[in-house]
Amino acid sequence: MNKIAQIFETLEYGPAPEAADQAIAWLDHHNRTFGHFIDGEWTAPGTTFTTENPATGEKLADITEGTPADIDLAVNAARAAFGPWSALSGYERGKYLYAIARAVQKHSRLFSVLETLDNGKPIRESRDIDIPLVARHFYHHAGWAQHLHREFPEHVPYGVCGQIIPWNFPLLMLAWKIAPALAAGNTVILKPAEFTSLTALLFAEICQRVGLPKGVVNIVTGQGETGQAIVAHPGIDKIAFTGSTEVGKAIRMATAGTGKGLSLELGGKSPYIVFEDADIDSAIEGLVDAIWFNQGQVCCAGSRLLVQESIEERFVTKLKKRMETLRVGDPLDKSVDIGAMVAPVQVERIRELMARGAAEGAVIYEPDNMTLPDAGCFLKPALVTNVSPANTLVAEEIFGPVLVAMSFRTPEEAVALANNTKYGLAATIWSENINLALDIAPNIKAGVVWINGTNNFDAAVGFGGYKESGFGREGGREGMSAYLKPKWEKDLQAAPPPRSVTPGDILGSGKLDQTAKMYIGGKQARPDSGYNRPVFDNTGLEIGEVGDGNRKDIRNAVEAARAALGWSTTSAHSRAQILYFLAENLDYRRNEFAARIKAQTGEDGADEVALAVERLFAFAGWADKYDGAVHNPPLRAIAAAMVEPLGVLGIVAPPSRPLLGSIALLAPALAMGNMVVLVPSAQSPLSITDLYQVIETSDVPSGVVNIVTGSSATLAKTLAEHDGVDGLWFAGDAQTSAMVEKASAGNLKQTWTSRGLYYDLADRRFEGDYFLGKATQVKNVWIPYGA
Ligand code: NDP
Repeated sequence: MNKIAQIFETLEYGPAPEAADQAIAWLDHHNRTFGHFIDGEWTAPGTTFTTENPATGEKLADITEGTPADIDLAVNAARAAFGPWSALSGYERGKYLYAIARAVQKHSRLFSVLETLDNGKPIRESRDIDIPLVARHFYHHAGWAQHLHREFPEHVPYGVCGQIIPWNFPLLMLAWKIAPALAAGNTVILKPAEFTSLTALLFAEICQRVGLPKGVVNIVTGQGETGQAIVAHPGIDKIAFTGSTEVGKAIRMATAGTGKGLSLELGGKSPYIVFEDADIDSAIEGLVDAIWFNQGQVCCAGSRLLVQESIEERFVTKLKKRMETLRVGDPLDKSVDIGAMVAPVQVERIRELMARGAAEGAVIYEPDNMTLPDAGCFLKPALVTNVSPANTLVAEEIFGPVLVAMSFRTPEEAVALANNTKYGLAATIWSENINLALDIAPNIKAGVVWINGTNNFDAAVGFGGYKESGFGREGGREGMSAYLKPKWEKDLQAAPPPRSVTPGDILGSGKLDQTAKMYIGGKQARPDSGYNRPVFDNTGLEIGEVGDGNRKDIRNAVEAARAALGWSTTSAHSRAQILYFLAENLDYRRNEFAARIKAQTGEDGADEVALAVERLFAFAGWADKYDGAVHNPPLRAIAAAMVEPLGVLGIVAPPSRPLLGSIALLAPALAMGNMVVLVPSAQSPLSITDLYQVIETSDVPSGVVNIVTGSSATLAKTLAEHDGVDGLWFAGDAQTSAMVEKASAGNLKQTWTSRGLYYDLADRRFEGDYFLGKATQVKNVWIPYGA
């Protein structure tokens, strides 16, 4: 047979290597040794560590280990640059972002090759996905810079942002962090991951080349300790972190009580659900992308295949066949599908996890028709079957080319399995029945849902997690707001100390024949402790008693709240009606409530009741208006940004304003569909224990509002530690606020704390999106179109 005929016979790929000479020349130009990029200049190299090409094990360069002194320098430079940078018009800042986008495009091949050399990802991906998305991100945010003053009136940048990124999408994660931060007027100190610093260093040169003012972007390289030094630095106003959930939790704890802004993009274990009516060939191709893109080192990798039982066998057989055709090898070869893992330690980790899974009964399939290169960090694609949800490979994020497969029978079972994880980053649904897919999407607890597609990303569409996948979004409007804060926050003053309570006689005065009970699951409840707390008026006279709530009462309340999940999917119109009704019934009893306020505080309560009624009206009005958007990313798809409630929200009301203090926080939470465990003012709880009668007569379903009285600090701690609580708002002193933030790290619940500052909740600024935003999270559902 002649050669061409042979090729047609075997259809073998020929080699298609990408030249690396320009990237190597760039490294050589720097003598393969790098200092940091601080204040627009390169520092002299310090103590260095080596970065290698994971495909060959060859050394690429020596990188400097950032010390606390380096971070100090960078923070000083960023602080000095902040004033002038934030004072520039949005148009001027936008022009710099535009220039960066253009420069990235102009040097895109150099960036792609360098990324592939340093990270091991196939050139096809760095060239066609990572770098174009980087440019797109800077373009998109150039526009935001210019329009911020209209879109986010009365908002200001945080100041100096510390940004820490992982190694799986080195330049793309840099873009996700730096573009919105700069658009908003912040200055940054960014630490790339130790394995993959090179494209960040090349990016520093782009900053020089476009004339970005000195100190606006500072790149400090280093390892975990350098990251820790950034997190701990008192001169940094906001930390934005992408990486593992473990380190994310450590950062949550380290920043607790500091007042630093925080956004966390963490790990995932995302379900890939295939229904029996799916276009199976497309679903298989999607799956290849979902789990073997970037060797599976993707936070949102579709690493858990859930396939409907009726097609399981057929699907798995086809999948195995497809796996045999994947090409593993030199990432610089343009026709390679799976490149090198980032480092030997990562290969080790994955092998260990697979051995554990196998010991627990998993069956692991790896195609035996492929040979791996002799050197370098390569792994075959793997498919894991015969697993239960408890298997290590199902429960743990593997961050490698390993897919675990399970089956389901009904849509309900698919949802239950999909949500059976501590993570909530992404999910994929394949079905030709769009009604079914759109019914499933809202039921999945994840920040991104792809229908009949996977791994779609765009700068205009927010990306980020639910649950232990973190909080905050990158991209789109939500991503922009993560780098801005209300202007008035800087003027907040310390809250006056709560009025001191005279302990009085421990048995109470005995003059009262009734003790106000708690309210749990739609019923009055006595405290589990069997203890009551006296309530005093402003003169120290005992005026009543309430239950002294404890851990068990909180547990019962959270259970009741979780059982009322239907509230989250009740139509916004119905929630609005119920809030209006609540307002009306409260208004009907205004004199009684005003008298109760006066009895507790000595102040005329009429205004406070009127404000509380007005606030309920305000949020009833918002219930069906604070909603999502439809984005038009540059592909044939729409992304529906759906505003969803957090879930079960703990609210610990401020000591002052016994009625409004609770209502101002409760109303936005309910309007957005959250179930609430409310701890009213510890000093003056009677306005809220009176409220349950109003709640009962207003058609609020049982369990939607639960009231537990007692010590604010004690109950806040229990709520913060409870894994069934999705968010916690605490209005009170700085010390307890810090405790709340720290204790919330367990399940990474979203928190808002007043940190001892006085938030005048009567102010109309709290009638709108301030708390609505905190009561919600955005899920982006991607829906492709086209026949
Ligand atoms: P790590 O959390 O180990 O590291 C992330 C970054 O944090 C690195 O720059 C790292 O430095 C630094 N770091 C490590 N320890 C600390 C510390 N104590 N304090 C501050 N910074 C620290 O994650 P990996 O780099 O191993 O990345 C993989 C993880 O990232 C996966 O779990 C993945 O799911 C997640 N990820 C999430 C994404 C998302 O958008 N949600 C996107 C991409 C990844 P060094 O490199 O030197 O260790």
